[in-house]
Amino acid sequence: MARRVLVASRNAKKLNELRRILDDAGIAGIEIIGLDDVPAYDEAPETGATFEENALAKARDGAAATGLACVADDSGISVDALNGMPGVLSARWAGRHGADEANNVLLLAQLGDVPDERRGAQFVSACALVVPGGAETVVRGEWPGAIARKPVGEGGFGYDPLFVPDGGEVSAAQLTPAEKNAVSHRGRALTRLVPVLAALTD
Ligand code: IMP
Repeated sequence: MARRVLVASRNAKKLNELRRILDDAGIAGIEIIGLDDVPAYDEAPETGATFEENALAKARDGAAATGLACVADDSGISVDALNGMPGVLSARWAGRHGADEANNVLLLAQLGDVPDERRGAQFVSACALVVPGGAETVVRGEWPGAIARKPVGEGGFGYDPLFVPDGGEVSAAQLTPAEKNAVSHRGRALTRLVPVLAALTD
């Protein structure tokens, strides 16, 4: 029987991304389920100072509440000219959780006078895996790039229209989901969890 692993998310795209990464790695025997597939439990607010702390806290909560191995992620954008902010505050940078457009307007205004050569930024994702009564693993993936001068592209979410990955000309919002997943911070972090997830099926 497949081992069930909870991903502490309601986002079907995140669940499918991990399913695809496990498939690509040839790992069978893991059934990925999401928060909508388990009884509701109290989800603590994200108050950690780092992506790693937030991811680990979410994964611990999920594992404790369900008795399942639990994967959780926390992500955001870290802008060099802002000394690494918005960082863990990325989702609520303009004051309200998940106001993507307001976040982008504010970030562009803050970087108004910052020249091209100092507009570096990286998307960061920390992914944690907590096995009840077992190991805790936290990994990190980074996707380096720069902040454009205006939003471009219709795809993706969050800061994608402002983020031009290193080595390319187009924004993250102009990539297909498959192109983005292949190189993104979350894709890189999840890929690093694969060997630990594979060991669960031994
Ligand atoms: P969460 O960890 O999925 O809650 O994401 C936190 C916030 O970081 C999001 O609300 C976005 O503002 C930003 N973010 C994280 N990953 C991405 C991405 O891949 N593209 C654009 N924005 C992102």
